[in-house]
Amino acid sequence: MELNCTECGLCCVAHTSSEGYCALTEGEVTQYDPSLVHLPTKKEVREASLAGEYMPAGFLRTKPAAPWGRVCCMLEGTVLVSVRCRIYSMRPTACRRAAEPGDEGCRRLRRAAGLVDD
Ligand code: SF4
Ligand code: SF4
Repeated sequence: MELNCTECGLCCVAHTSSEGYCALTEGEVTQYDPSLVHLPTKKEVREASLAGEYMPAGFLRTKPAAPWGRVCCMLEGTVLVSVRCRIYSMRPTACRRAAEPGDEGCRRLRRAAGLVDD
């Protein structure tokens, strides 16, 4: 089955309760409108450090999207129906390295959403 990301969007669902989702590098933090960027709080930095986790320079913010909870603030449309990334040609490195249609990461996300592609 051929998968089309513009009919999916599960990669852009924020599987987190944090204000930020898509990780940004130091250089990327200043590329986007500041109102769309979440900079890690001191508490988040401290917690990541204690957990031995890498803390990115910033994150794209999220917005509510029932029934998914929250999605990246740059996502337009409806997940699993029709979606579009508002900054696709300028999307962050993290998005460029995320799942490709049909790879293991993609299939894991789609299985978790109850989809059977095979
Ligand atoms: S890579 Fe897979 S899970 Fe991600 S948006 Fe595309 S089809 Fe959906
Ligand atoms: S920037 Fe675009 S591709 Fe990346 S998570 Fe947000 S909507 Fe998805």
